[in-house]
Amino acid sequence: MASTARPRKALPVFDAARLANAATAKLRAYDPGHDLPALRERFGDAIAELGSNENPRGPSPRALKVMRAALGETFRYPDPRGMVLKRALAGHLDVGVERIALGNGSHELLMLLAQCFADAKHSIVFSQFGFAVFPIATAAADARAIGVPALPRSDRAAPLGHDLGAMAKAIRRDTRIVYLANPNNPTGTWFGDAALEKFLAAVPRDVVVVVDEAYHEYVEAPGLSTALAFADRYPNLVVTRTFSKAYGLAGMRVGYLVAHPSVVSVLERLRESFNVNNVALAGATAALGDKPWLAKARAFNRAEREWLREELLERGYRCLPSQTNFLLCVLARDASKLEQHLFERGVIVRPMSGYGLPRALRISVGSRAENRRLLRALP
Ligand SMILES: *Cc1c(COP(=O)(O)O)cnc(C)c1O
Repeated sequence: MASTARPRKALPVFDAARLANAATAKLRAYDPGHDLPALRERFGDAIAELGSNENPRGPSPRALKVMRAALGETFRYPDPRGMVLKRALAGHLDVGVERIALGNGSHELLMLLAQCFADAKHSIVFSQFGFAVFPIATAAADARAIGVPALPRSDRAAPLGHDLGAMAKAIRRDTRIVYLANPNNPTGTWFGDAALEKFLAAVPRDVVVVVDEAYHEYVEAPGLSTALAFADRYPNLVVTRTFSKAYGLAGMRVGYLVAHPSVVSVLERLRESFNVNNVALAGATAALGDKPWLAKARAFNRAEREWLREELLERGYRCLPSQTNFLLCVLARDASKLEQHLFERGVIVRPMSGYGLPRALRISVGSRAENRRLLRALP
């Protein structure tokens, strides 16, 4: 959009970075990928947005209906504790409400965990090619990052995935948090319940183990259910989930976690009041209740993902196995030319050089029309 603002006088020179606290001074802003609002203006409808792992089918119609109704209440503050959603989640997950915390997206909760439990005297363990928020949360708490090398690409079960054995060994006396993502973004890889149980048994109780299950609703692999299966036995286990992916509510920003009540009450000290808005609370509650819609989203995603993976393979592109709504495709050479080629044709995928995977692209499973567009746009 052309700026209509009149020219302004230069502001006085001022370097706020010099004043930032130690943790913030070392940080860089989160890279959200391409400027999508600008691209929508440039390409209009002719754009395939396959860069952010959103659900192309959107949320349950029931969620849309209650969200429209909730707009009439937006002059009120939302329920500061989000009790209606928490009760629905407690019923859905069969846990007490006192074990649930809500976040403005699970990103917020991942950050909050580091802020509440770690500082400059502590270290935080996560995997190479683990979710991008883990190192940011670590840096924001001024904690020391211990990045553990991923499994080799040749690993059959989880190429480039978490090496849980090495992660358990990497834990030091000063380690406060271990972040795991299962399935992981951007690799799409996963580990089974038995591997997690072994890991939990090896980790001292004063280390908080966070299992990020953002893609849980898509999971169908044998041997993998959920880390929640161990939540009653391991009070140091925290499981995070989101409404942004399978539930199709990325724009609403709602995530949650399940933990021991004492963990939740620590997080509540720093959580912002009213962090989840009333439209989002209503939408998430209704979305949770529409099980047939979720089942359809899962079935659609499975079929479309496997079809897309095959089509890509036929064209010579190898993608890792995935239990998510995206594929990580690893090329024989640097992927930036291909990413640019697709970009110029209105197909947005996520480059992976920021993750240290310059030969990879992460491609979200879109609608059939979007996926076809991607295939057509390939050189
Ligand atoms: C998308 C994603 C999230 C979700 O973030 P929200 O803030 O809930 O939208 C969390 N973890 C992983 C691994 C993700 O890919």
